Amino acid sequence: MRLVLVGPPGCGKGTLSAFIVSKYGIPHISTGDIFREHRTKKSELGQKIASYIDKGELVPDELVLDVVFDRLAQPDCAKGFIFDGFPRTIAQAEALQERLAKAGMPLDAVLSFSVPDEVLVRRLVTRRVCPSCNAVYNTEKKPPQVENTCDHCQHELVHRADDHEEVIQSRLDVYRRSTAPLLDYYQGQKLLVNLDGSRGSHEVEKQFEHFVAERGL
Ligand code: AMP
Repeated sequence: MRLVLVGPPGCGKGTLSAFIVSKYGIPHISTGDIFREHRTKKSELGQKIASYIDKGELVPDELVLDVVFDRLAQPDCAKGFIFDGFPRTIAQAEALQERLAKAGMPLDAVLSFSVPDEVLVRRLVTRRVCPSCNAVYNTEKKPPQVENTCDHCQHELVHRADDHEEVIQSRLDVYRRSTAPLLDYYQGQKLLVNLDGSRGSHEVEKQFEHFVAERGL
């Protein structure tokens, strides 16, 4: 199964990805997670991208594509993959398409999530993440068992710097300007599948399973 998940920050891409990984065992490739790991390690790439992430701006395409293509070349991707947060521009989508066509691994579908802005903002300001295993929590809807502690690895949870209201608005603007045009791009390729992301995660999982059964994936 080769999937791309497209949607604004907070729409549930990461949460659905975790479900797909646990059910289908295919790798989850989140460019945001990869970049945050580079930042924590203070690698050369981590230093180059820090200011973009802090301001909620997009990292330049060439840096993104290097990271993604390195990851795609790893053997576990032969059985499929879920891209979460990539591509985010038409240029990235075109580069991905070319790469996958050469490898004979075309996408099966692009899942998009519709969620009203006020729901997104609320989800992001209450979101907490584990910087060690990338598990996602929510102080209102999905709190950890022990306050501020990851259920899986007991690491302290963080409120991402870009999940504060001042940055969220610019991330939503960037989404509308640079990423939303991908919906038309993938619609034109008959790959787009729309999910109602405003519902709880269980509902979204049911919509996904319905799509998988319908497609026989
Ligand atoms: P995310 O975790 O997907 O919300 O990504 C966090 C931040 O990482 C974004 O706000 C961007 O600064 C950067 N980023 C992640 N993926 C991409 C991408 N495909 N293209 C450009 N920037 C990205």
